[in-house]
Amino acid sequence: METVLAAVRVGPSKTQIRDFPMPDIPEDSALVKMEVAGICGTDVKMYKTPPSESTPVIMGHENIGTIAKAGREFTRRKGFKEGDLVFVEHYVMCGKCEWCHAGQYRHCENTDWRYNPDAIRYGYTSSEKAPHLWGGFAQYLYLPWNAVVHHVPKGVTPELAGLVTPMANGVEWSLFDGGVGYNSTVLIQGPGQQGLSQTVICKQAGASLIVLTGTSKDAARMEVAKALGADHVIDVQKEDALARIMEITGSKGVDVVLDCTAGAGTTPILLGVDALKRKAGTMVVQGEMTEFPNFPLGKVTVKAVTIKSARGHSYKACELALAQLASHRFPLEKVTTHTFGLKDVDLAIKSVGGHGVPDVIHASLMPWK
Ligand SMILES: [Zn+2]
Ligand SMILES: [Zn+2]
Repeated sequence: METVLAAVRVGPSKTQIRDFPMPDIPEDSALVKMEVAGICGTDVKMYKTPPSESTPVIMGHENIGTIAKAGREFTRRKGFKEGDLVFVEHYVMCGKCEWCHAGQYRHCENTDWRYNPDAIRYGYTSSEKAPHLWGGFAQYLYLPWNAVVHHVPKGVTPELAGLVTPMANGVEWSLFDGGVGYNSTVLIQGPGQQGLSQTVICKQAGASLIVLTGTSKDAARMEVAKALGADHVIDVQKEDALARIMEITGSKGVDVVLDCTAGAGTTPILLGVDALKRKAGTMVVQGEMTEFPNFPLGKVTVKAVTIKSARGHSYKACELALAQLASHRFPLEKVTTHTFGLKDVDLAIKSVGGHGVPDVIHASLMPWK
């Protein structure tokens, strides 16, 4: 029997390489031969503290690969055929609800792992659920009829395409949620792959000022940020960030704040509220903390601040991100710093989290390496 190798998370910070049977591909489904699974901050978090410790999961939710097998109905309905290089969104839609019809699959109940025990989402769904191949840290990925798939444009390598998810979040959060456009002034907090992607998107959209904050360990990333178009970078451990922002903006503050920090607590939100312009600024937050003592609600309302939630990406954001990658306008090879093989999944995730291999910005997991 033909088998597929996969790295399975079997507990907190624990991976096992396992064999799965090669699935039969029904007429309405397809099989992707994995090229690159991007690793992001969510992987770091989900690996360390899985939502369920006992559920085995093939992680990998930012998936690029080649269609290896496509059922006739799959090709007829979705337009993808064998040999196509594709980006597979991690959301697996129902295809019937209002969100799916709007291209906002991320809000579809069918893929909502937090509340729906039967939800399917690549990188999150149990590998016990047949046909098992629900994550990108494997040689193959199974695509049911309701997978959301995009063509990778010509001239974009699988490794570059591995940046599509942070780049799509960049489009969604800064342009669609934050309203960044021509002449906008923006504060981006956190110079990881997410903050750097926001920098690229804001720059291309015409922002007149991009300020990026980080900590002392981010020195190398701050240099990359400058190469990608950040006008000013601030080390919040060495400088008074708010004073610098006010100096740079002539005491006006910025139009939009994008929080791309991880594990920094409430500090970035407090800085964001203060750094926003006098009235009607917008802040896009990830807000992973469960509590926020002394939240400055009075200041938020007096300043008429709009707070929006950073929640993944829409179909359109992905298409615009792929077009961005195809433009080759930015030196993104400075971001795709490292590749790892399947047996090094553990090291790869830890390295993205700042432990292991130093100076990783974006890591590509290449299951055939
Ligand atoms: Zn991710
Ligand atoms: Zn739906």
